[in-house]
Amino acid sequence: MKVEIICVGTELLLGNIVNTNAAYLSEQCAALGLSCYYQQVVGDNTERLEGTLKTALHRSEVIILSGGLGPTKDDLTKETAAAVLGKKLVMDEASREHIRIFFANRDKLPTENNWKQAMVPEGCKVLYNENGTAPGVIMEAEGRHVILLPGPPNELQPLFDKSVAPYLRTLQPDVICSRTVKVCNIGESRAETMVSDLIEAQDNPTLAPYAKVGEVHFRVTAKAESEKAADKLIRPIVKELKKRFGKDVYTTDTDVTLEQAVAMLLDKYKLTITTAESCTGGQLAARLINVPGISGVFGSGYVTYADKAKHKLLGVKKSTLRKNGAVSAETAAQMAVGAAKASGADVAVSVTGIAGPDGGSEEKPVGLVYVGCFVCGRTTVKEYHFAGSRSKVRESTVAAALTQVRGCIQQQFKKKACRCAL
Ligand code: ATP
Repeated sequence: MKVEIICVGTELLLGNIVNTNAAYLSEQCAALGLSCYYQQVVGDNTERLEGTLKTALHRSEVIILSGGLGPTKDDLTKETAAAVLGKKLVMDEASREHIRIFFANRDKLPTENNWKQAMVPEGCKVLYNENGTAPGVIMEAEGRHVILLPGPPNELQPLFDKSVAPYLRTLQPDVICSRTVKVCNIGESRAETMVSDLIEAQDNPTLAPYAKVGEVHFRVTAKAESEKAADKLIRPIVKELKKRFGKDVYTTDTDVTLEQAVAMLLDKYKLTITTAESCTGGQLAARLINVPGISGVFGSGYVTYADKAKHKLLGVKKSTLRKNGAVSAETAAQMAVGAAKASGADVAVSVTGIAGPDGGSEEKPVGLVYVGCFVCGRTTVKEYHFAGSRSKVRESTVAAALTQVRGCIQQQFKKKACRCAL
């Protein structure tokens, strides 16, 4: 079943407000197994709204409109939608009573135009709005379902969850299940290329890639008559993704984050970790601290922004700082070793780089970052070149550091396992 979203409001067209309703409605509809092929934004203008709605009725079965249900003259969604579907507006006594109580509870009197909100298209299903005075509306005509929702997200979202989603489920009774395969250590375009055949051939289940900073998520969604049947459709695709991306798949659990995957690995091998950060200024430690219960493996981290701090707290040699500079592979290595020594942790991750916008040179441009990993006595350093703003460079650095330390632990312990096997 095809769904189309129309957001009404001149403010949206002027860029005064961000269209979060479209994002919310699209995501919810996708989760319900409805295909959203089109979204439209239209100003508070009768003719243009009429045209927009007619276009949508022509090509989609479910049309959800948000906004323009208020009491003022420029709120004309209900009037226009009713006219397009050839329905009269009639007084809904329950809505009228709701408006009366809504104002009475706030010690206010409704104005004459507030009663306009109690007028609904004849024969429609009225959705009572607990957070505002404008009721939502569902109209049915000639196999089309037209749903009107108020614009404020704090009204639209609860109304959608409580009344619209159950209604849409009756139109689309199949069960929708999805799983997310999360991949790190790979860029978005390469990841997509590696599965382009699967994306092209997708039907049921569908396969959707989502690029995140330093990671790519693949959502596999299936529609079936039961959860078990949907899971059966999903499993082969998940297996195929795991085969293609190998150890770069850090989880197939939608709720697990990259930092959690690192924490789980540390826990598995009974390792403790510390951080030594320059340009990320504590963001790496903060990501790790996102994980509840991380204190079991993470006791302390170091923010050493100035050269003096790198020397004093982490023991980076003055000669290294002088000769190679603070942003160098040598400094990153010494930061990692120094942090491990100072904290007594088994694993240390260090970060030093040029986040910009200033401070770059031809030899060391903005975006140049070194990440060092010390894992049980072995230190490795990698060089990165990130693009974008200062905050983007710092975010990318943190993701790279988590990815790198995950890889180093895996490699180190795989070797140990091999040696044991010998
Ligand atoms: P009201 O009864 O408050 O007038 P309404 O249904 O008429 O509600 P609008 O007047 O179109 O809705 O919008 C009211 C407010 O809701 C906007 O100022 C904005 O803050 C928010 N809003 C409207 N549409 C959207 C949207 N698509 N995304 C995010 N917020 C929105």
